[in-house]
Order: sequence, then C-alpha cells, then structure tokens
Amino acid sequence: MMEILEQSKKRYKQTKKWLDRLKRRPPVDLDRQFQKAHEDVFQSMDCLHCANCCKTISPVFKSKDIERIAAHLKLKPGLFIDRYLRIDDEGDYVLQQSPCSFLLPDNTCLVYDVRPAACKSYPHTDRTNMQSLLPLTLKNTLTCPATAVIVERLQQIYESLD
Ligand code: SF4
Ligand code: SF4
Repeated sequence: MMEILEQSKKRYKQTKKWLDRLKRRPPVDLDRQFQKAHEDVFQSMDCLHCANCCKTISPVFKSKDIERIAAHLKLKPGLFIDRYLRIDDEGDYVLQQSPCSFLLPDNTCLVYDVRPAACKSYPHTDRTNMQSLLPLTLKNTLTCPATAVIVERLQQIYESLD
C-alpha cells in the first residue's frame, strides 16, 4: 500500500496536469467510469490492511455526527467535543489527534456503525459530479492507495481513447 503512495507522490505533478485537463474538458461518462473503477478497486483493496486515512487525516464532524457519536459513547455532545475535537482553519470540527482516537489496533473503528458521514463516503470516488471533486481526488492520491489506483485506471482508459 505504501509503495503505491510513494509512486503517487512521484507522479503527483503529472497526475495534477492530467486531472486539470480532465476538469476543463470532462468526458460525458466521467461519473460512470469513476463508479466502475471504484467498485473494481475496492473489491480487492482491504481497508483493514491500510487505514491510512484514519491514521493521517481527519474527517469533518458535522453536528449530526457529533450528536450521534456522543450518544453512542454515552457522553454529552459538549464533553465529546472537549475530549476529541478542535476547530480547524475553515471553522469545521476535526479530530484533535492523529491517528484518529477511535482507530483500534487492528485497524477497525470503535464507532464504525455511527461513524461520521465523511468517513462513510471517503475517498469520494463514487460520487456524482466527480468533475467538481477532481482537486480533492488529486489530494487523496497522496493518502489513499485505492484512490491512486482508481485515478491511474481512469488515466489508462481515457488515454487509450485519445
Ligand atoms: S471515526 Fe472511525 S472511520 Fe472515521 S477516521 Fe476515526 S477510526 Fe477512521
Ligand atoms: S479508504 Fe483508502 S486510505 Fe482509507 S483505508 Fe481504504 S484504501 Fe486506505
């Protein structure tokens, strides 16, 4: 997994150039190709052997997430915030610490069933309107090996059509 991220780092400039071009002129089937690659790649990618997202970046905690997770942990939302969260530069609640406080040693999540919506949808490669998510996808190629492979796959598909 880490080797994939090393490669991504090396290819970052080239990937950025390609994704910028894709953003300017998005193919009509972009969402469908992302969806397909996402399904294929996650079929063989075992997130429990990776957990790099949980180890290195924080999800945003919306108020609904905070209420739900605090209730699950039998904590008052205020206490949950004091104990685990801080406000980032964009004014969002994020984790105080990295790796995530809820990541267990076997890479499972202590609050999996009630985890933040952002954790559920990470790495956002099967969303609609992928064109608007290409800058985020580029960033995620440096954190998430699955995203790196998905982007590489799309690059191969579209370059073969050029
Ligand atoms: S809440 Fe769970 S899924 Fe989300 S970052 Fe923490 S450990 Fe990972
Ligand atoms: S979503 Fe990506 S970074 Fe997170 S565990 Fe799965 S492969 Fe790793």
